Amino acid sequence: MSGAPRELPDLKNHPALRAPETKAVFKALETPGAPTRLVGGTVRNALLGEPVKDIDMASVLTPDRVTQKAEAAGLKVVPTGIGHGTVTIVAHGQPVEVTTLRADVETDGRRATIRYTEDWAEDAGRRDFTMNALYCDADGNLFDPLGGIGDLQARKVRFIGDAEDRIREDYLRILRFFRFFAFYGHGRPDAAGLKACVRLKSGMDVLSAERIWSELKRILEAPDPARAMLWMRTTEVLQRVLPESWGIDSIHTLIAAEQAEGWLPDPLLRLQSIMPPRADRIDAMSERLKLAKSETARLSEWATIDQVAADISDDALAARLYRDGPQPLRDRFQLAFAKALGEGNDDACQGLRSRLAFIEGWQKPEFPVTGKDLMLLGHEPGPAMGELLAALEEQWIESGFTLSRETLLKDVREGL
Ligand code: ATP
Ligand code: MG
Repeated sequence: MSGAPRELPDLKNHPALRAPETKAVFKALETPGAPTRLVGGTVRNALLGEPVKDIDMASVLTPDRVTQKAEAAGLKVVPTGIGHGTVTIVAHGQPVEVTTLRADVETDGRRATIRYTEDWAEDAGRRDFTMNALYCDADGNLFDPLGGIGDLQARKVRFIGDAEDRIREDYLRILRFFRFFAFYGHGRPDAAGLKACVRLKSGMDVLSAERIWSELKRILEAPDPARAMLWMRTTEVLQRVLPESWGIDSIHTLIAAEQAEGWLPDPLLRLQSIMPPRADRIDAMSERLKLAKSETARLSEWATIDQVAADISDDALAARLYRDGPQPLRDRFQLAFAKALGEGNDDACQGLRSRLAFIEGWQKPEFPVTGKDLMLLGHEPGPAMGELLAALEEQWIESGFTLSRETLLKDVREGL
């Protein structure tokens, strides 16, 4: 990645512009004197040559008129954020978010009261970073009301206007600053932006848990979040939102391991790499940040399963996989692998790689005995039967999953 300004690509033929849903929405909303343009991440990523995940548009048309026109063109409209002027149009099965040009009238650090405007510079001015305030019409013509192109080319994440003022309007922008830096930033983060984050980080306390966690997760999803995390730690933004973290040193080796082994970015594994495997901390964090049940379960299992040795045998590992499930063991081994890689311990890496391959290839065997089998042998359903089943299952696991249904039931029949 080079910091030197590059030629801007011609957007006319960019897949985001040529996509049928983009074309359909542009066509449906076409109105003389009331343009609709692509905006935000769509334009930013198209210009940077980064993948465009979703199509965001800005329109002079009010949400009512957007809805009317889209429906008249046979498109489905969902009022996803009508309070701030956003509707989602579904075209060719794909969502396109259309937000009416707007200005923030009043803000409280979390949300804004808005009014509509027809002034593109005003709409640009309420956005967070200069690289996020670029627009592009259906023909690929760029509009840059605030001069954000230079920052984009230099990969500089810069607040629009005064960084502190902008953060006071919405404290989530602190985390967005680090997220966009993680994904698209180059060199050092913007000094004024960093300084403002340091001064105002306590303001993040007003944010809802959901917004913080979803933004944190997105930072942790970046191809390489290590630099951003380092700056978050230096500014103590990280400690503010994630006091459970014990330091970010291990994230470097995890990223190196991901790259060496071709593992996909996994935000929860990255989180595990920067926090101790302690159930109390995980519970506190899950509660504070309102993690999803499945996320909390994954972290808790990782923290609470019994120790597992790197040189565990196939049979013993198979038994552990059956009891603990593959996820916590995979998490443990991946983190151990990253550590070994960081220490340059090739033998350990080799061993752990083979353990991880075993986990990937493992399929959960099905316990061959059911309650029905026991009922046929005259056992009554109830706690005693549950215990008998559990004891049989234990025997079966101990046998390396080899005892057959017949053998197990024969033992029952003979009262063993
Ligand atoms: P991506 O979708 O790739 O995560 P994005 O830039 O499109 O990135 P969105 O959250 O989809 O981010 O928002 C779309 C645009 O809306 C942004 O580019 C920005 O211009 C504006 N925006 C979103 N959230 C904020 C915010 N909290 N403060 C100011 N502007 C915002
Ligand atoms: Mg977006």
